[in-house]
Amino acid sequence: MLSPDHSLGVRDCQHARYSFLGFLALFLVRCLMPRASVFAVAMLLLLAACAGRIPMGARNGSVGKTNDGCLIGGARLESNDDLLVLNADNCWGTPELVELLQAAAHEMRAAYPEAPPLVVGDLSREGGGRLSPHESHQSGRDADVALYATDNKTHKRFLDMTRGALDVPKTWSLIQTLLEKGHVQYILMDWEVQKLIYDEISLFVPEQELSRIFQYPRPRGARAGVIRHAAGHRDHMHIRIRCPAGDVYCTD
Ligand SMILES: [Zn+2]
Repeated sequence: MLSPDHSLGVRDCQHARYSFLGFLALFLVRCLMPRASVFAVAMLLLLAACAGRIPMGARNGSVGKTNDGCLIGGARLESNDDLLVLNADNCWGTPELVELLQAAAHEMRAAYPEAPPLVVGDLSREGGGRLSPHESHQSGRDADVALYATDNKTHKRFLDMTRGALDVPKTWSLIQTLLEKGHVQYILMDWEVQKLIYDEISLFVPEQELSRIFQYPRPRGARAGVIRHAAGHRDHMHIRIRCPAGDVYCTD
């Protein structure tokens, strides 16, 4: 939930927007008053910076926390042959997240030409901020992605996954593809769905690798593995990337 007292992330977004407006105002002043000395303009800039605590590095990128933040200058994820975006309003993310999803979808298409496109649900709104019904998805670092179904059809919604309905080879391939890129911080997935994948791939994936990637078979609350249990994630997985390098006001 967005805290009522406007915590750090949201304030930083506001400052970043104010700083942009400040620079714009100063630019106009400079145009309208060409004789104003460089020193005077510099002083005005300094005053504006002090007054607004301009976070220079925050003018683009993920700002604040995923559950209390925003997104400045985000990139838009669009549908193509490899990828289907379910909601064209909520498809904004950091360039790193958008490129990760595009690359993963492209690689899945190459590996499984007959597979349906990667179905992607919400990322963030343009500009980020609160996006109901999610608690996170505020700062361009979260994406909901469908799990592959054994019927190999394109479903324009997320399907509840049970044994037999989940295409484990494709879903495991997608997870590996995402993790290889190096940006993923967590994948949220119901513990029971983790079990479905784990049971099948444990026949050929080394235990050390499984332990690094999956929380299962540890308890649901265990702080271990990249893939963690979260309620409401039986029909999709939630991908969160780390704060992109250079997004100095992003909070992991
Ligand atoms: Zn989500």
